[in-house]
Amino acid sequence: MGDIRRWTPEKIRQVIRESNKQSANGSQKYVEWENSAILTDYEFIPCLCDESCWCRRHSCSGHYRIKEITFDQFLETYTKLWIPPNARENINNAVRFGAPFKGRQRNAVKPLQRLKDNWSDILTRVRGYNKCGLCDSPFSVVGDVTNLYQGKMWSQLLYDSVVPFDTKSQARIKRAGYTDPTKDFRAMNNELFNDLKKFSEASGMEVDGIRNLDSPWDVVTHLERPCGGQPLSRVLDKMFYAPQ
Ligand SMILES: [Zn+2]
Ligand SMILES: [Zn+2]
Repeated sequence: MGDIRRWTPEKIRQVIRESNKQSANGSQKYVEWENSAILTDYEFIPCLCDESCWCRRHSCSGHYRIKEITFDQFLETYTKLWIPPNARENINNAVRFGAPFKGRQRNAVKPLQRLKDNWSDILTRVRGYNKCGLCDSPFSVVGDVTNLYQGKMWSQLLYDSVVPFDTKSQARIKRAGYTDPTKDFRAMNNELFNDLKKFSEASGMEVDGIRNLDSPWDVVTHLERPCGGQPLSRVLDKMFYAPQ
Protein backbone atom coordinates (compact mmCIF):
# COMPACT_ATOMS: atom_id res chain seq x y z
CA MET A 1 0.00 0.00 0.00
CA GLY A 2 1.33 3.40 -0.96
CA ASP A 3 0.93 6.88 0.42
CA ILE A 4 -1.64 8.44 -1.90
CA ARG A 5 -4.68 7.06 -0.11
CA ARG A 6 -3.53 8.82 3.07
CA TRP A 7 -3.19 12.23 1.41
CA THR A 8 -5.89 14.88 1.73
CA PRO A 9 -7.27 16.78 -1.26
CA GLU A 10 -5.72 19.96 0.18
CA LYS A 11 -2.29 18.37 0.38
CA ILE A 12 -2.48 17.03 -3.20
CA ARG A 13 -3.63 20.41 -4.54
CA GLN A 14 -0.81 22.13 -2.72
CA VAL A 15 1.89 19.70 -3.95
CA ILE A 16 0.66 19.95 -7.55
CA ARG A 17 0.41 23.72 -7.40
CA GLU A 18 4.02 23.91 -6.21
CA SER A 19 5.08 21.62 -9.09
CA ASN A 20 3.26 23.91 -11.55
CA LYS A 21 4.85 27.03 -10.03
CA GLN A 22 8.32 25.58 -10.41
CA SER A 23 7.58 24.54 -14.00
CA ALA A 24 6.32 28.01 -14.84
CA ASN A 25 9.52 29.59 -13.51
CA GLY A 26 11.92 27.01 -14.99
CA SER A 27 13.76 27.30 -18.32
CA GLN A 28 11.85 24.42 -19.91
CA LYS A 29 8.39 25.99 -19.33
CA TYR A 30 6.96 22.49 -19.09
CA VAL A 31 3.57 23.68 -17.93
CA GLU A 32 3.13 25.76 -21.09
CA TRP A 33 4.09 22.94 -23.48
CA GLU A 34 1.86 20.52 -21.62
CA ASN A 35 -1.08 22.86 -22.14
CA SER A 36 -0.34 23.36 -25.83
CA ALA A 37 0.04 19.57 -26.30
CA ILE A 38 -3.32 18.74 -24.79
CA LEU A 39 -5.04 21.32 -27.00
CA THR A 40 -3.42 20.20 -30.27
CA ASP A 41 -2.68 16.46 -30.02
CA TYR A 42 -5.59 15.03 -27.99
CA GLU A 43 -9.35 14.69 -28.17
CA PHE A 44 -11.77 14.14 -25.31
CA ILE A 45 -13.97 11.20 -26.28
CA PRO A 46 -17.23 10.24 -24.53
CA CYS A 47 -16.86 7.50 -21.92
CA LEU A 48 -18.25 4.29 -23.40
CA CYS A 49 -17.66 2.10 -20.35
CA ASP A 50 -20.66 0.27 -18.94
CA GLU A 51 -22.16 0.99 -15.55
CA SER A 52 -20.05 -1.62 -13.82
CA CYS A 53 -16.75 0.19 -14.56
CA TRP A 54 -15.21 2.15 -11.67
CA CYS A 55 -14.96 5.29 -13.82
CA ARG A 56 -18.70 5.22 -14.65
CA ARG A 57 -19.66 4.67 -11.05
CA HIS A 58 -17.75 7.87 -10.28
CA SER A 59 -19.39 10.11 -12.88
CA CYS A 60 -16.77 9.83 -15.63
CA SER A 61 -17.79 11.83 -18.68
CA GLY A 62 -14.95 10.98 -21.04
CA HIS A 63 -11.34 10.04 -21.69
CA TYR A 64 -8.46 11.68 -23.52
CA ARG A 65 -7.22 9.97 -26.67
CA ILE A 66 -4.35 10.92 -28.94
CA LYS A 67 -5.55 12.32 -32.28
CA GLU A 68 -4.61 10.79 -35.62
CA ILE A 69 -1.40 12.81 -35.81
CA THR A 70 1.77 12.14 -37.79
CA PHE A 71 4.88 10.74 -36.16
CA ASP A 72 6.67 14.02 -36.87
CA GLN A 73 4.07 15.91 -34.88
CA PHE A 74 4.31 13.39 -32.05
CA LEU A 75 8.09 13.81 -32.03
CA GLU A 76 7.87 17.60 -32.01
CA THR A 77 5.57 17.45 -28.98
CA TYR A 78 7.81 14.83 -27.34
CA THR A 79 10.89 17.00 -27.53
CA LYS A 80 9.01 20.05 -26.26
CA LEU A 81 7.57 18.17 -23.32
CA TRP A 82 10.49 16.04 -22.23
CA ILE A 83 13.78 17.26 -23.75
CA PRO A 84 15.67 20.43 -22.70
CA PRO A 85 15.67 23.18 -25.38
CA ASN A 86 19.38 22.79 -26.24
CA ALA A 87 19.01 19.08 -27.11
CA ARG A 88 15.71 19.14 -29.01
CA GLU A 89 17.13 19.66 -32.49
CA ASN A 90 19.77 16.94 -31.97
CA ILE A 91 17.21 14.39 -30.79
CA ASN A 92 15.01 15.28 -33.73
CA ASN A 93 17.86 14.73 -36.22
CA ALA A 94 18.97 11.52 -34.51
CA VAL A 95 15.48 9.99 -34.57
CA ARG A 96 14.47 11.10 -38.05
CA PHE A 97 17.75 10.94 -39.95
CA GLY A 98 19.99 8.72 -37.83
CA ALA A 99 22.41 11.55 -37.00
CA PRO A 100 24.82 10.53 -34.22
CA PHE A 101 23.85 11.78 -30.77
CA LYS A 102 25.79 11.09 -27.60
CA GLY A 103 24.11 13.56 -25.24
CA ARG A 104 22.53 12.79 -21.89
CA GLN A 105 19.17 11.99 -23.50
CA ARG A 106 20.64 9.40 -25.93
CA ASN A 107 18.43 6.62 -24.49
CA ALA A 108 15.44 8.39 -26.01
CA VAL A 109 16.63 7.79 -29.58
CA LYS A 110 16.19 4.03 -30.10
CA PRO A 111 12.67 3.75 -28.59
CA LEU A 112 11.55 6.74 -30.68
CA GLN A 113 13.04 5.22 -33.83
CA ARG A 114 11.18 1.98 -33.17
CA LEU A 115 8.02 4.00 -32.67
CA LYS A 116 8.64 5.83 -35.97
CA ASP A 117 9.07 2.51 -37.83
CA ASN A 118 5.79 1.16 -36.39
CA TRP A 119 3.88 4.42 -36.12
CA SER A 120 0.61 3.60 -37.89
CA ASP A 121 0.34 0.23 -36.17
CA ILE A 122 0.99 1.58 -32.67
CA LEU A 123 -1.20 4.64 -33.20
CA THR A 124 -4.08 2.36 -34.24
CA ARG A 125 -3.58 0.24 -31.13
CA VAL A 126 -3.46 3.11 -28.64
CA ARG A 127 -6.42 4.84 -30.30
CA GLY A 128 -8.34 1.56 -30.09
CA TYR A 129 -7.82 1.55 -26.33
CA ASN A 130 -10.61 3.92 -25.34
CA LYS A 131 -10.28 3.61 -21.54
CA CYS A 132 -8.64 5.71 -18.86
CA GLY A 133 -6.37 4.78 -15.96
CA LEU A 134 -9.32 4.62 -13.56
CA CYS A 135 -11.12 1.95 -15.61
CA ASP A 136 -11.35 -1.60 -14.29
CA SER A 137 -9.52 -3.20 -17.20
CA PRO A 138 -5.83 -2.37 -16.96
CA PHE A 139 -4.12 -1.32 -20.16
CA SER A 140 -2.26 -3.97 -22.11
CA VAL A 141 -0.83 -2.05 -25.02
CA VAL A 142 2.30 -0.65 -23.37
CA GLY A 143 5.51 -2.14 -24.71
CA ASP A 144 8.70 -2.65 -22.72
CA VAL A 145 9.63 0.24 -20.44
CA THR A 146 13.03 0.11 -18.82
CA ASN A 147 14.10 3.74 -18.96
CA LEU A 148 12.44 7.07 -18.32
CA TYR A 149 12.38 8.07 -22.02
CA GLN A 150 10.26 5.05 -22.87
CA GLY A 151 7.97 5.84 -19.94
CA LYS A 152 7.49 9.39 -21.21
CA MET A 153 6.84 8.10 -24.73
CA TRP A 154 4.10 5.72 -23.57
CA SER A 155 2.59 8.35 -21.32
CA GLN A 156 2.31 10.66 -24.31
CA LEU A 157 0.67 7.88 -26.33
CA LEU A 158 -1.79 7.07 -23.52
CA TYR A 159 -2.04 10.41 -21.75
CA ASP A 160 -5.01 9.41 -19.60
CA SER A 161 -3.65 6.02 -18.54
CA VAL A 162 0.14 5.97 -18.23
CA VAL A 163 2.16 7.95 -15.67
CA PRO A 164 5.75 8.83 -16.66
CA PHE A 165 8.71 9.18 -14.32
CA ASP A 166 12.11 10.80 -14.18
CA THR A 167 15.05 10.25 -11.85
CA LYS A 168 13.69 12.46 -9.06
CA SER A 169 10.09 11.33 -9.23
CA GLN A 170 11.24 7.70 -9.42
CA ALA A 171 12.89 8.12 -6.01
CA ARG A 172 9.79 9.80 -4.58
CA ILE A 173 7.48 7.15 -6.01
CA LYS A 174 9.58 4.42 -4.37
CA ARG A 175 9.70 6.30 -1.06
CA ALA A 176 5.91 6.58 -1.14
CA GLY A 177 5.66 2.79 -1.20
CA TYR A 178 5.20 2.01 -4.90
CA THR A 179 7.08 -0.37 -7.21
CA ASP A 180 10.23 0.98 -8.84
CA PRO A 181 9.08 1.92 -12.37
CA THR A 182 12.38 0.77 -13.93
CA LYS A 183 11.74 -2.71 -12.49
CA ASP A 184 8.03 -3.00 -13.32
CA PHE A 185 6.50 0.03 -15.00
CA ARG A 186 3.10 -1.57 -15.38
CA ALA A 187 2.93 -2.51 -11.68
CA MET A 188 3.80 1.06 -10.66
CA ASN A 189 1.02 2.42 -12.87
CA ASN A 190 -1.56 -0.04 -11.56
CA GLU A 191 -0.63 0.72 -7.95
CA LEU A 192 -0.81 4.49 -8.47
CA PHE A 193 -4.22 4.33 -10.13
CA ASN A 194 -5.56 1.86 -7.56
CA ASP A 195 -4.56 4.19 -4.76
CA LEU A 196 -6.04 7.15 -6.63
CA LYS A 197 -9.34 5.25 -6.64
CA LYS A 198 -9.05 4.57 -2.90
CA PHE A 199 -8.28 8.26 -2.32
CA SER A 200 -11.32 9.21 -4.38
CA GLU A 201 -13.59 6.83 -2.47
CA ALA A 202 -12.32 8.12 0.88
CA SER A 203 -12.68 11.79 -0.06
CA GLY A 204 -15.91 11.46 -2.03
CA MET A 205 -14.28 13.03 -5.06
CA GLU A 206 -15.58 12.10 -8.54
CA VAL A 207 -13.49 11.81 -11.70
CA ASP A 208 -13.93 15.50 -12.59
CA GLY A 209 -12.71 16.49 -9.14
CA ILE A 210 -9.64 14.28 -9.53
CA ARG A 211 -8.78 15.90 -12.88
CA ASN A 212 -9.19 19.33 -11.30
CA LEU A 213 -6.66 18.60 -8.55
CA ASP A 214 -4.27 19.89 -11.21
CA SER A 215 -5.24 23.38 -12.41
CA PRO A 216 -2.15 24.96 -13.98
CA TRP A 217 -4.32 27.84 -15.35
CA ASP A 218 -4.63 29.09 -11.77
CA VAL A 219 -0.83 29.51 -11.74
CA VAL A 220 -0.24 30.64 -15.33
CA THR A 221 -3.36 32.57 -16.11
CA HIS A 222 -3.08 32.65 -19.92
CA LEU A 223 -3.30 28.84 -20.15
CA GLU A 224 -6.52 27.48 -21.58
CA ARG A 225 -8.46 24.90 -19.57
CA PRO A 226 -9.02 21.87 -21.85
CA CYS A 227 -12.66 20.77 -22.15
CA GLY A 228 -12.23 17.61 -20.08
CA GLY A 229 -9.92 19.08 -17.44
CA GLN A 230 -6.44 17.64 -16.99
CA PRO A 231 -5.38 14.21 -18.27
CA LEU A 232 -5.08 11.79 -15.35
CA SER A 233 -1.39 11.10 -15.97
CA ARG A 234 -0.65 14.77 -15.28
CA VAL A 235 -2.37 14.65 -11.90
CA LEU A 236 -0.46 11.58 -10.68
CA ASP A 237 2.84 12.67 -12.20
CA LYS A 238 2.79 16.03 -10.44
CA MET A 239 2.17 14.46 -7.05
CA PHE A 240 5.75 13.22 -7.37
CA TYR A 241 7.39 15.48 -9.90
CA ALA A 242 8.82 18.94 -9.35
CA PRO A 243 11.50 20.50 -11.58
CA GLN A 244 13.67 21.58 -8.64
ZN1 LIG B 1 -14.89 6.58 -18.21
ZN1 LIG C 1 -14.14 2.95 -17.46
